[in-house]
Amino acid sequence: MPETSISNGKVAEIHFTLTLDDGQIADSSAGQDPMLYLHGADNIVLGLEKELMGKAAGAELKVDVSAEEGFGVRKEEGVQDVPRSSFPGDIEFELGMDFGFESEDGSVMTGWVTAFTDETVTIDLNHPLAGEALHFDIKVLSVREATPEELEHGHPHGVGGHEH
Ligand code: ZN
Repeated sequence: MPETSISNGKVAEIHFTLTLDDGQIADSSAGQDPMLYLHGADNIVLGLEKELMGKAAGAELKVDVSAEEGFGVRKEEGVQDVPRSSFPGDIEFELGMDFGFESEDGSVMTGWVTAFTDETVTIDLNHPLAGEALHFDIKVLSVREATPEELEHGHPHGVGGHEH
């Protein structure tokens, strides 16, 4: 049987560790279930997806990703003060909480609470890792065809994937 390698429409199972320039580990699957992602569906950052293209089970690689191909560069206009009255009254705000917002073109954006007072809530639409260069250690465990349902949903199902 020919070895399956990663391409659009494949589901890959990977272990990863994400390190920042200062050596801090921002995220890792070590000690947990590996992560599943659907290639070509924006499940992972662009710079990492590009390097995983064509890799097969057993591949181990280090990938350096610029902020531009990672979680984006920081945009100062992404920080906005929103009147507290525009949120439902029963929300208990916490720093780092995230909210989904519908943008003018109808796409959903995520914003993170970076400050709040009784009157205003400061929302940062920049990803918390925006502006950071990303350094991934990756091990590819398996690669398989996505199911029709996974392709339709745009994400993999099962342990390590999307659980409905
Ligand atoms: Zn689904």
